[in-house]
Amino acid sequence: MKWNTDTEATSHITPHQHWIRNYTPYRVSIHLADNRVIYSEGVGTIVFHPLVNKKDSRDVELTQILHVPALQNNLLPVLYLMRQKQFDIHISFNTISFSCSGSVLFTATIDNNNIGYLNGTTLSSSEQVHMSSTLPFNLSLWHKRLCHHKYRGIKMLIKDNLVEGLVIDSAAKPYSVCKPCIAGKMYANLFLSSDTRATELLGLVHSDLHSVGTSSNGGLMYWITFIDDLSCFKVVLSLKKKSDLFGAFKTFKAYAENATGMTLKSFRCDKGGEYCICPKSSLLIWINMVLQNSIELKTIHNRMV
Ligand SMILES: [Zn+2]
Repeated sequence: MKWNTDTEATSHITPHQHWIRNYTPYRVSIHLADNRVIYSEGVGTIVFHPLVNKKDSRDVELTQILHVPALQNNLLPVLYLMRQKQFDIHISFNTISFSCSGSVLFTATIDNNNIGYLNGTTLSSSEQVHMSSTLPFNLSLWHKRLCHHKYRGIKMLIKDNLVEGLVIDSAAKPYSVCKPCIAGKMYANLFLSSDTRATELLGLVHSDLHSVGTSSNGGLMYWITFIDDLSCFKVVLSLKKKSDLFGAFKTFKAYAENATGMTLKSFRCDKGGEYCICPKSSLLIWINMVLQNSIELKTIHNRMV
């Protein structure tokens, strides 16, 4: 949950959506050092509570934070802060200091692996409700505060002076895309019931990955389900990272095949792309296993999980 200082990153990047406020959908490709390309899903701001010399310091708001679910770490772009945000950065034996206008705003401690981690904590967006807002009062903000009321209606409230305290101090145009509004208007087709069932144990297994939202004390963030189509026997495994998914699959496969004496024939997951995030090498191993065991991967909607 710490921020890594990174000299190659060009943006603040985090997989933790719950830290981000003023969240706006935003998709941009991010090229990783291992040649992988991943995508952001949103952008917004975060509030960081720094510890400087082990003492609480003034909260810092960082803007243009990209939400990238597929990333494992939080990356703080050191050179970007220095060149684009006029931070004065000083690196000593085990400390990196980030100063602005002569005062140190936050620091990072360099560990034995030469990685600098920011000292302090990031406030989750729910912790910020007691804080006075520094966001501009524009139509987008009031749209969110008024339960996604239509912009025309908000303008009418202001024009006819129908409410007190509804102030607009920014002429910024509202976002053309509002994710909750789009989600609220989407129509989901009903899943048709299927007459076909697997005819043997492990003939077809359904799987899906779920996020808990907040990690447990032990650091667990996800749980994955495996359900046998014929018997409806369920197995649930907890994971710390999405990348542990491939290991969980192998664990389930070994357990289920030992317990039943059958071979896993067919495997079905939804279109969530969970299995696409497996490390490339692991995925290749898995694909090989699929071929050897004639497992067919069906990426269709999964009614069972
Ligand atoms: Zn909306």
